[in-house]
Amino acid sequence: MKRNMDVPWSYSGDNGPEHWHTLCDWYAEGAQFPLQSPIALVHDETEEPIDQDLAFHYRREQFTEKEFKNTIHFVPFDKESYVTFQGVDYHLTDIHFHMPSEHIIDDEQQELEFHLVHMNEEGQNLVVGILFRLTDKLNWICNAQDDSIWDFENHVQWFDPSMFLPERTHHFHYVGSLTTPPTKGPINWFVFDWVGEMSRKFIQEFREEVLENNNRPLQDRKERPIYFY
Ligand SMILES: [Zn+2]
Repeated sequence: MKRNMDVPWSYSGDNGPEHWHTLCDWYAEGAQFPLQSPIALVHDETEEPIDQDLAFHYRREQFTEKEFKNTIHFVPFDKESYVTFQGVDYHLTDIHFHMPSEHIIDDEQQELEFHLVHMNEEGQNLVVGILFRLTDKLNWICNAQDDSIWDFENHVQWFDPSMFLPERTHHFHYVGSLTTPPTKGPINWFVFDWVGEMSRKFIQEFREEVLENNNRPLQDRKERPIYFY
């Protein structure tokens, strides 16, 4: 096995999800975390939350788009947007998406799942997941503000990441892992139970760069609690 290397991985074949933990010792170590993601989320199997809720402090800022890890990523320049959970600030470091959705809510998979990845000062992650269906009705991305800028030629975007957040704020919270190698944990996951609409045109901008079916299969829940806010 290769040591500590960012080796190529995929969603099928010899380096597909069932082989990720064999590709290098870095991935093997991540896979040892027992509570993996994604999982099936079921309203009837949730518990009352014991923690305080997540608070969003997002603002319009500059992003650049990059292709890696089999999808497109929007990376903020100055990391000005953040969330607060249990008194700790987690700064937004990356926005990317999977097709179809990785989380499945009440047995329903959606066409798209966006991940807003955050990190605190200790390097611990917190990920917010929002599921979308694709529509031809919208001219452009979901709730994009009028002053947002999408300059793919120069790889410059300006937007408020709140545009990805739903109108309804109900969400699941559970402890899991990254869904891409190294699939390390623990990571606090917050997945909204609302399905948004995303313009097909927006997603087609990245057709050549985003691998379709870049969703990790469901992992065993292992009796872990799922909270519903
Ligand atoms: Zn993701």
